[in-house]
Amino acid sequence: METATGSWLCPTEADRARMLEAGSLVRRARVWVSGLVGLATLAAGPWIGWWPVLFSVISAVQVATLDRRVARSPRPERLVAFSFAWTAIFATLGTATSGGPSSPLLIFLALPATLMANRFRRPVVIVGTTFSVVLLLLGSVAVDPGGFADDPALVFASLAILIGVVVFTISLSDTEMALRADARFDHLTGLFNRASLVPRFAELRSQAHATDGAIALVVYDLDRFKSVNDQLGHDRGDAVLRDTAHLLRRHLRAFDLVYRLGGEEFAVVLPGVGVAEALEIAQRQRESIEEARPGGVSITVSGGVASARGEAVAWDTLFQRADAALLRAKREGRNRIAIAHDEVPALPLAS
Ligand code: GH3
Ligand code: MG
Ligand code: MG
Repeated sequence: METATGSWLCPTEADRARMLEAGSLVRRARVWVSGLVGLATLAAGPWIGWWPVLFSVISAVQVATLDRRVARSPRPERLVAFSFAWTAIFATLGTATSGGPSSPLLIFLALPATLMANRFRRPVVIVGTTFSVVLLLLGSVAVDPGGFADDPALVFASLAILIGVVVFTISLSDTEMALRADARFDHLTGLFNRASLVPRFAELRSQAHATDGAIALVVYDLDRFKSVNDQLGHDRGDAVLRDTAHLLRRHLRAFDLVYRLGGEEFAVVLPGVGVAEALEIAQRQRESIEEARPGGVSITVSGGVASARGEAVAWDTLFQRADAALLRAKREGRNRIAIAHDEVPALPLAS
């Protein structure tokens, strides 16, 4: 089961995770490439004029700062798509104002396509590539049809490089995803597994450090789950786990994350959320599981909540505190949410 995000760019949570991760994997390369393009354009300034330089530098800066902006965005896939579009448009303006079909900047129009080719699924890449091709033609052939007719070689070469770069990027990212897909997902519930939580949390932690943002973690464990297996069989136990995973997703925002930690234990990561709001969300999730009878079984869940802010965000301590709260919820009778005892401000234990 893959959860829906309601976005054409990233229809499932897995698409969004892929988008964020694929971008962060090539972060350093992107900063280097945009730096080099910016420098090359500046060096060409005396010959091509300063308007094209300005447009190209705006384009390069968009690319170089993308990760910083994505980290703060509630709809990261839209931001990436818009950044790609703006980058391509500014690069095209640079080309159009520096000779069109004979512009030395023409060849750079192949680069913005890499922004989306390694992040999005095939239909998005096809739309994005078509957009890039149209821009390339607008920035060259359309501004000087006569120049193009006299010498079309650079335009053809740039089109070939643009399409080649997209095909190559898709092929590399497909290979990479195929190698890792199996390792990242829990096949029973369709959620991400624990192994994929650690690198994702590392990213969230750097965001929290950079923005002094909060992160809350809720750890859940089904109550007396063993007896479901014992009395109703392992298959019914599996159905309970699948439905529980679905219920946990239901009350969350698109960018909240749900993981199966193992067995009948789940983790919910809530970026930008403090302890009070996390407690409310966890209570809602607990109630919905109690009411929904996942897998057709009357079962309840216990949860532990912990939160941290800015520099204090670290996976180990956050998990230990949430897990200790979960243990307390179990000890105090199950079917309840407890918050880590050192949370400030202290909130009453909720049932
Ligand atoms: P408590 O309220 O203290 O958490 O009681 P519990 O019975 O849930 O505790 P325990 O952790 O001992 O039981 C977990 C059980 O989860 C044991 C194991 O049989 C079952 N389990 C773990 N993974 C799976 C799975 O993938 N499918 C099924 N059906 N059962 C699983
Ligand atoms: Mg357990
Ligand atoms: Mg349990």
